[in-house]
Amino acid sequence: MSVTPKKPLPVIIIGAGPVGLCLALYLAQREVRSCLIERFDDQTFIDQEARAGSIHPATLEMLADLGLYERMERRGLIAPKFQYWDREADHMFAEFDHTVLAGDTRFPYVLQCERTKIIDEAMQVLRQSTFCDIRMSTEFVSFTQDADSVEAVVTDTAGSEERIRGSFIVSCEGGRSIVRKTLNIEFEGYTYPERTLTVAINYDFDKARGYSYRNYLSDPEQWSNLFKWTQPERWRVHFPTNIDDAPDKVLSDEHIQTQMQKFLPRDQPYEIVHRTLYTVHQRVAATFRAGRAMLAGDSAHVNSPIGGMGMNSGIHDAVNLGEKLCGILSGRYQSDVLDRYTRQRRHVAVNHTKLQTERNKKLLTEKDPAARQRNHDHLRRTAEDAKLAREFLMRTSLLNSVREAAAIE
Ligand SMILES: Cc1cc2nc3c(=O)[nH]c(=O)nc-3n(C[C@H](O)[C@H](O)[C@H](O)COP(=O)(O)OP(=O)(O)OC[C@H]3O[C@@H](n4cnc5c(N)ncnc54)[C@H](O)[C@@H]3O)c2cc1C
Repeated sequence: MSVTPKKPLPVIIIGAGPVGLCLALYLAQREVRSCLIERFDDQTFIDQEARAGSIHPATLEMLADLGLYERMERRGLIAPKFQYWDREADHMFAEFDHTVLAGDTRFPYVLQCERTKIIDEAMQVLRQSTFCDIRMSTEFVSFTQDADSVEAVVTDTAGSEERIRGSFIVSCEGGRSIVRKTLNIEFEGYTYPERTLTVAINYDFDKARGYSYRNYLSDPEQWSNLFKWTQPERWRVHFPTNIDDAPDKVLSDEHIQTQMQKFLPRDQPYEIVHRTLYTVHQRVAATFRAGRAMLAGDSAHVNSPIGGMGMNSGIHDAVNLGEKLCGILSGRYQSDVLDRYTRQRRHVAVNHTKLQTERNKKLLTEKDPAARQRNHDHLRRTAEDAKLAREFLMRTSLLNSVREAAAIE
């Protein structure tokens, strides 16, 4: 008598951020079932803070494979170039052009497309699949695991509890991961004492001053970043804040207008469309796996947004882990391949994302005039030399980190 093989239990994914959604899409494409838990309802999900938005070439390749690229391109801005400015001396000193990567990637540019648009599009595609059970308005509370399965406890908006069994649980919950805390996994690193102010402005910075769509501004007192987000003229500016300043003061019209006039003086006030303060951490979990529980994205690593790497590397986690989970559930891999996931992706979190974002911050905030000059000269020479520029962009585009991780056994 033939025995029908047992259907594997779904993979439980906590959090429908970019990482959780990309993992669910990866699994659904390969007909692996998942259950995606998200606390927001359909409306609050769309109304979230925009946050991440620079999508690098390595990630664009993955989004294309997930069937998301065309949707993203329609809603984003293609940014082949980015610039470094000396804010103190008020001039641009280095410009990098991704077109030197034309032989390395299908996407020799960065796509400026905010997190909210990514999750909106990814959710629309995922809803077309029968392989993902999407639970909105559902709060993940706790979980347990044994040798063969996991069980997640969730509640609905009325507080009713439900237990969901799965084959694995993947925490894509963001930095405050309950899974990580339950497992007592150390979140090693530190938190910067000062917060960063982000202001969205309607103004033609490119026409007014010749900025590219992505700009990093070094300054011994007040570094800054300036990015264009949407046509015709929505930009985002980031400033550091003083540790002692009260949030109300930092977020006031008066303070922001003063900052903006210092940034680029004009004879009228700026049109401020959004403002927010955020805290920046540099932390990496001691391991990304404990038994059948895995961490991915911000739940595994958080870093400074300078360089735009958090969401990108989180999506790389999702694709890496998705491949291994599919392999295990189809019987091709043993479960110890999940330790390889930790080795590969933790290596990237520590040796690429953390290192590079710390380096970016140091470059923009350097106070010593001689060191500043050396840094600027070095970057200028790198940008002007085709070979050095390609090497530099292979790192910032995250193509190197994906290749390096693939080589780790
Ligand atoms: C101002 C700013 C700019 C940034 N810019 C960039 C950039 O340009 N490029 C880049 O790569 N990164 C950037 N980042 C970082 C980026 O936003 C994060 O790395 C990314 O959003 C992490 O994705 P995630 O899916 O891991 O987690 P999140 O995006 O935090 O998503 C977590 C999801 O889990 C849900 N959730 C959490 N807990 C529960 C629970 N208990 N029950 C149910 N649901 C739960 C949340 O509601 C949320 O939907 C930026 C961050 C900031 C603050």
